[in-house]
Amino acid sequence: MSRVRSKDTGPELTVRRLLHSLGFRFRLHRRDLPGTPDIVLPRHHVAVLVHGCFWHGHDCSLFRMPATRTEFWKAKIDANRHRDAEVRSDLLSEGWRTLCVWECAIRGSARLSSDDLAMQIITFLSERQNEGDIAGHWDTKSRERIDA
Ligand SMILES: [Zn+2]
Repeated sequence: MSRVRSKDTGPELTVRRLLHSLGFRFRLHRRDLPGTPDIVLPRHHVAVLVHGCFWHGHDCSLFRMPATRTEFWKAKIDANRHRDAEVRSDLLSEGWRTLCVWECAIRGSARLSSDDLAMQIITFLSERQNEGDIAGHWDTKSRERIDA
């Protein structure tokens, strides 16, 4: 299966600029790590994965299953999700915690303010969970945006 790897996408650049402005040191696209993570913060042993909501099958309103060739897309997106889970567990087994920043946290009607995004990133770095996800302000049941 071809890998989903879009370098230097808009959302990734946004996350990089934010990390830079917060004074974090990071490395990009480390091929020696599982899944070639988009961004790693070596000092924190955290890999930041910036995921497009369509390709990675996020349950949010940026994702809509295409009405044509639905079986094809479903298989493809399921494979991507499966691979994402594997990459996270492989990274963890090499000592890297993973923080997934979803596209909907950065663009679309439910996007977070940059202060909010910064706060969520800093919170993850200061805590100890193995995995974190940052997404837009969605109500998970209705998939409507939640007004802050
Ligand atoms: Zn999303």
